[in-house]
Amino acid sequence: MRLILISTPIGYLGSGRGGGVELTLNSLVSGLIELGHSVKVVAPYKSNLLINGAELFTVKGSEQKSWQHQDYNSHIQIPRDSLLVAMVEKAISLSKNADLILNLSYDWLPIWMTMNIEIPIFHLISMANESGAINDVIADIYSRFPNNFAFHTKVQASDYSFIQKPQIVGNGFQLNKYVFQSNGGGPLAWVGRVTPEKGLEDAVYAANKLGEKLHVWGIIENKEYASEIEKKFSSEVIIWKGFLETSLLQKELGKCRALINTPKWNEAYGNVVVEALACGVPVISYKKGGPGEIIQHGETGFLVEAGDKDSLISYLMKINSIERRNCRKWVEQNASYLSFAKRVVNWLEMAIKEFS
Ligand code: UDP
Repeated sequence: MRLILISTPIGYLGSGRGGGVELTLNSLVSGLIELGHSVKVVAPYKSNLLINGAELFTVKGSEQKSWQHQDYNSHIQIPRDSLLVAMVEKAISLSKNADLILNLSYDWLPIWMTMNIEIPIFHLISMANESGAINDVIADIYSRFPNNFAFHTKVQASDYSFIQKPQIVGNGFQLNKYVFQSNGGGPLAWVGRVTPEKGLEDAVYAANKLGEKLHVWGIIENKEYASEIEKKFSSEVIIWKGFLETSLLQKELGKCRALINTPKWNEAYGNVVVEALACGVPVISYKKGGPGEIIQHGETGFLVEAGDKDSLISYLMKINSIERRNCRKWVEQNASYLSFAKRVVNWLEMAIKEFS
């Protein structure tokens, strides 16, 4: 197939501001190339694609506001000089020589375009239900073209009440980029965008109660929120490690005893959970969203009721009972980039037949 991928209109690839979509896109493109497909990627100016063999087209413009930072009932807004519009236009201009467009941006315009352009456009939805207007446009298009949508996890898809039989494609990771580390004697870790929906404060609470330090990796998206957390706890607890690219992140993360993952929202997937597992690091998280579906309780980590910080602590004390090999094995068996790309290709091949 000849595919055109539309990346997220928030942050250029490599900035970290696009969150998990950045890594997901890179994994998917490598898998698609390896499977012999031809791939063009449309992404914001300054984007860096880490894969040879795909063509990158970058465009400039004003960014969308991320949906997780708006009210559920917010109106759709498209800024003047819109980056999203420029990305969609670029994808359409390339479409004469393509079979389909695969959209990875979580926004209204590309989904609405499904009915309004010649080339089939499919959507890998990267978030749970964060916007009423996006929910409605998905519902509308889904009623006519149910196969044009895929989701990362079942629990993510179930957030859209009208979805009957969701296409679940999981996610994929380039395992050769993550080195398994068998020694679990290191510090406690937390990885993610530092922003309220990611719930860093619960992990800091647990580390603090245990008298331990928490190593925190990721971009500080909300500085006010970060300093509020710092004020609540002793300044000794958090060790800010900044945003690291994958090769450096996995090296540091792999030394850790456990990843504490404490999202407040319905995480669609949770890349950082699988990246920790790939390094052999067990994960303690809440029984909700993607992590609740990914983590095998007692095998690759532990799951506790959402917000139950005391249980987080008691399971942290038992973390050494998890066999680190099992963590890596789960990723090898369930979340390689190639198996992810194959699931996406199977979905697209089926969907394109139905579409035409
Ligand atoms: N990440 C990174 N370096 C860091 C911290 C995070 O590259 O120092 C990446 C991580 O690899 C993951 C992404 O940030 O792919 C976060 O994705 P996730 O799905 O966990 O959450 P999202 O930000 O999409 O809500």
